[in-house]
Amino acid sequence: MAVAANNVNLSPEKVTAKLALIFLGPPGAGKGTQAKRISNELNLPHLSTGDMLRDAVTRGTELGLLAKPIMARGDLVPDEIVLGMVEERLKRPDCTCGFIFDGFPRTIPQAEKLDEILHRRGFGKPLVIEFMVNPETLLKRVAGRWTCSIGGETYNIYERAPKVPGICDNDGGKLVQRSDDQPEIVKERFAAYQKQTLPLADYYRGHGNLQTVDGGAEVNQVTRALNEILKRAAGSDGHL
Ligand SMILES: [Zn+2]
Repeated sequence: MAVAANNVNLSPEKVTAKLALIFLGPPGAGKGTQAKRISNELNLPHLSTGDMLRDAVTRGTELGLLAKPIMARGDLVPDEIVLGMVEERLKRPDCTCGFIFDGFPRTIPQAEKLDEILHRRGFGKPLVIEFMVNPETLLKRVAGRWTCSIGGETYNIYERAPKVPGICDNDGGKLVQRSDDQPEIVKERFAAYQKQTLPLADYYRGHGNLQTVDGGAEVNQVTRALNEILKRAAGSDGHL
């Protein structure tokens, strides 16, 4: 899908369309699933800071080496390191035309730093999509979630059940329920998310291009809503 070019540079042959997409929403809002779909449709990398950190640690980059002992202690990796990784990641060639950030930024300071990185990398304002979902829907989704103990694939006994109960379709791994998918933990995470992310949505309403989708809707319906937003954004230049 063609996306409006915001930074027409050099010659017409080198017109670049850069799409910085950010998906905001609480855990269980369906951001990951939709990010995978849109990533395939638009051929843009699907980025999360968790994957980025694990990758940097595995590859033994300078920032990875700094992050490793912090992660091993179970502490939160400081913004400086995370944002350094983000900037390194955005320099890789697969991000030339854009990317989808899933679950990042989480705070206003991170959003401000990300804006600076986007500016340096020649991106315009990000298109930010907030996945709205009520706490009851979220609870049901997360409480139904089972994760493969081998490959980490996730299933949901209500929405996306495995062919054989308790067994991963891909590799036969045993499905387990993660401890942080317990209802009490889910409620706490949702409260923490709201406290942190509501100001972030306000920030983007003013500084970016904030759109919302109903994350509680059926999965194909959400994909259609996202495609509509992307189509409108591509038609309007200016913001992307
Ligand atoms: Zn599996």
